[in-house]
Amino acid sequence: MQQHSGNLFIVSAPSGAGKSSLINALLKTHADMQVSVSHTTRAPRPGEVDGVHYHFISVEQFKKLIADNEFLEWAEVFGNYYGTSRSAIINNLRQGIDVFLDIDWQGARQIRQQAPGTLGIFILPPSMAALEQRLLQRGQDSEQVIAKRMAQAQSEMQHADEYEYLIINDDFNQALSELAHIVLSQRNSLQSQQSRHQTLMQQLLAKPAK
Ligand code: GDP
Ligand code: ADP
Ligand code: 5GP
Repeated sequence: MQQHSGNLFIVSAPSGAGKSSLINALLKTHADMQVSVSHTTRAPRPGEVDGVHYHFISVEQFKKLIADNEFLEWAEVFGNYYGTSRSAIINNLRQGIDVFLDIDWQGARQIRQQAPGTLGIFILPPSMAALEQRLLQRGQDSEQVIAKRMAQAQSEMQHADEYEYLIINDDFNQALSELAHIVLSQRNSLQSQQSRHQTLMQQLLAKPAK
């Protein structure tokens, strides 16, 4: 993928660690950031809106999108397909908007190959008990689904060392502040600022006419 002026961030975590809540809280105060809306074959949870939380599609539709090369990455997670479509992300990055991918470690590996500058952030819960408590409290998955996600949590967390940053989401506001700091320092990196402020830099560095 070519270099664009927006930054791409991957956020991964075991289900229930708080990645969606943290990303959404950050987006509330930053108009120039967006979360990528994935396609999935899982059923919507109560309150989830098609096109907002996910694009909910059938397995047949998903396979067609794979065949048409529409996905930047896709993976099977908890027995459902999930994928990130290419076009929406590239449009946002071109406009200088930072994009968050809330994807699993398998997807993260595929993205890193295509966009090596992508920054990976892994979110951990403060304990396994807290993770289970959060899944129960969220109250959107059946007992069976929660048991499956708890069973998968450790294998997801084994991939934490493939990411550049690690956040322990114990106190929510502390974790949010840590996420904001990571994202903002990446935005201010030389490479990122040079591509976002090309015109300004040319003006400032131009030799004055004599
Ligand atoms: P949650 O983690 O409890 O919010 O559960 P979800 O059902 O929203 O997500 C299930 C898993 O799929 C998580 O590990 C996500 O990171 C992952 N996931 C979601 N969207 C995508 C995607 O577009 N691509 C990939 N590779 N993984 C995704
Ligand atoms: P994920 O997207 O990683 O599956 P969510 O953002 O849906 O996780 O969070 C799971 C549940 O835990 C939600 O009900 C959320 O309100 C709650 N939660 C998130 N962070 C914290 C925290 N630091 N302390 C307590 N509860 C939290
Ligand atoms: P949930 O079903 O709870 O919304 O998501 C379960 C897991 O799927 C989460 O860990 C989430 O990060 C991951 N996931 C969601 N969308 C995608 C996607 O587009 N690609 C990949 N690889 N994983 C995804």
